[in-house]
Amino acid sequence: MPAGMIEIDSELCKDCKLCISVCPHHLIEPFNQLNQKGYAPVIFTESEHKKEDRKCTGCALCAMMCPEIAIEVHRA
Ligand code: SF4
Ligand code: SF4
Repeated sequence: MPAGMIEIDSELCKDCKLCISVCPHHLIEPFNQLNQKGYAPVIFTESEHKKEDRKCTGCALCAMMCPEIAIEVHRA
């Protein structure tokens, strides 16, 4: 299975949660810390799910869905 990871620019995120809804491995989750614009940016949580073997494949569905272009995808 291909490996990937994402970086979310927390200052660009507007908390629309579209990326959360499309990630097939449920690796993006809400977070309760506000950015400078007052939005609560989502976070990438792969490291918290290692035991469940939920890994980012770099599919880029999250980045394609993001209206703010806040997600950068890296593929191994
Ligand atoms: S690239 Fe794919 S697997 Fe990785 S976080 Fe985004 S939607 Fe999920
Ligand atoms: S789709 Fe983009 S703007 Fe919306 S919650 Fe995800 S990272 Fe933030």
